[in-house]
Amino acid sequence: MPRTPNRPAILAPQTALLHHEDQITPGFSAFVTPVTRASTVVFPDLAAMRAVKWNDDSQWRYGLHATPTSLILAQRLATIEGGQHALLQPSGLSSIVNVYFGIVRQGDDVLIPDNAYGPNRELGDWLTRDFGLTVQYYDPLIGAGIEALIKPNTKLIWLEAPGSVTMEIPDVAAITAVARRHGIVTAIDNTYSAGLAFKPFEHGVDISVQALTKYQSGASDLLMGATITADAAIHFRLKRARMTMGIGVSADDCSLVLRSLPSMKVRFEAHDAAAMTLARWLKSRAEIAAVLHPAFEDCPGHAQWKRDFTGAGGLFSVVFDAAYSPAQVDAFVEGLAWFKIGWSWGGMHSLAMPYNIREMRSATAWPYEGTLVRFFVGLEDVGDLQADIEQSLTTHLVA
Ligand SMILES: *Cc1c(COP(=O)(O)O)cnc(C)c1O
Repeated sequence: MPRTPNRPAILAPQTALLHHEDQITPGFSAFVTPVTRASTVVFPDLAAMRAVKWNDDSQWRYGLHATPTSLILAQRLATIEGGQHALLQPSGLSSIVNVYFGIVRQGDDVLIPDNAYGPNRELGDWLTRDFGLTVQYYDPLIGAGIEALIKPNTKLIWLEAPGSVTMEIPDVAAITAVARRHGIVTAIDNTYSAGLAFKPFEHGVDISVQALTKYQSGASDLLMGATITADAAIHFRLKRARMTMGIGVSADDCSLVLRSLPSMKVRFEAHDAAAMTLARWLKSRAEIAAVLHPAFEDCPGHAQWKRDFTGAGGLFSVVFDAAYSPAQVDAFVEGLAWFKIGWSWGGMHSLAMPYNIREMRSATAWPYEGTLVRFFVGLEDVGDLQADIEQSLTTHLVA
C-alpha cells in the first residue's frame, strides 16, 4: 500500500515553496545530463527505505553514495575502459586510498612499482608505519620476475603504465598472469592513457584507477577520481570501503566532467600529436641526453607500448646532459613563457616541472646523471611551444 498522508489543500506559501511537486515538462529533450544535487534521498514510505540494499547499484539511498548524475558519469567511465562498474572519489589520490582500504587489511603485503606516482608511495609508507601493512617496491620492468617477490600474504599489486615521470611501460599481462595464479588483486593507475590508449581489463587487470582531474576534466578546474572494474565482487569490496569512509562527490563536479568527456578523445589526440612533434625535435637538441617518451624505441618498455597501446597523450620527459647543473635546468624551466610551473596535467595548458629522480626511488638504480624535466604539452600552437623551449634553451643553457 502506498503511503497516503493527509495533506491540507491550502498551504502557506513558505511551505508550498518546500513541498512543490515538480513536473518536468513532457517532451523536453537536450544533450545535457541533469544535475541531481542531493544529500537526502526521499523514500515513498518506510518499507521502501528499509528494503534498500547497499549492494544494489540501481537503488538510491543517500546522496553521498550516488545520485543519477554521478551514476551516469560512473557508467560512462566504465564504458570507456571496457569495465562494468565504477565508483567516484573526490580526487585521484582518494581513489588510490579507496583501493587500499577495499582490498587489503592489517598484515597484508603490497607490491608497488618503484616509478609509482609519488603520493601512492607516501601512502604505502604511511600504511606500513602506522597500519600494519608491508610494502615492497619493484622494478617496473620486472615482468614475470615479479613472482619471486610474492609472499603468502601478498594481496595487492599496483601497476602504473607508464610511470608518470620516468615513462617506463611495464609488461602488464606478464604481471597480471602471475597475480591471477596467486589470487592477488591487481590495480593499475591508468591516468596516463585516460582509458583511451590502454584497455587494462584486456590485459588481466582487476581495477583501473583514473585521476579524472586530468584529461577527463580537461580544464584544470576540478578534482575527481574513479575506480573502475569488470568484477562485481571487487566493485562491492571497493564500494563498501567507500561508504564506510564517507567518500562521495558533488553532482556539479560530475556534470563538469560529463561536459568534457565527449571531447576527450580529440583533445587526447591533439595533445599526443603536439607532444610527439616536440619530443622528436628535442631529441635532436644537443642539450638533451635522453627523451623519455614511450613511442620512442629507446624508451624502457617501448616494446610493451607498441604491443598494448594505441597512443601516448601529452606527457613526456627529457633528461638534460649532465654538463648542465640542476640550477641551470631550473633557470631553463623558469625561462619558459608558455609552459607554466604547476602540479597536475591533462588540462588545456602546457606545463613543465623538474624532478630529482634519485630521491624518488628505492628499489632500482637510475641511469642518468642529468636533471629530468617533465613536459605536459597543452593545446597552444605547437610552433609557439617549440619556439618557447628554444628561446629558453639558448638563453639559459650555455655550456
Ligand atoms: C594526478 C595523478 C593522480 C592523482 O590525482 P589527484 O586528482 O590530483 O589526486 C594519480 N595518479 C597519477 C598518475 C596522476 O597523474
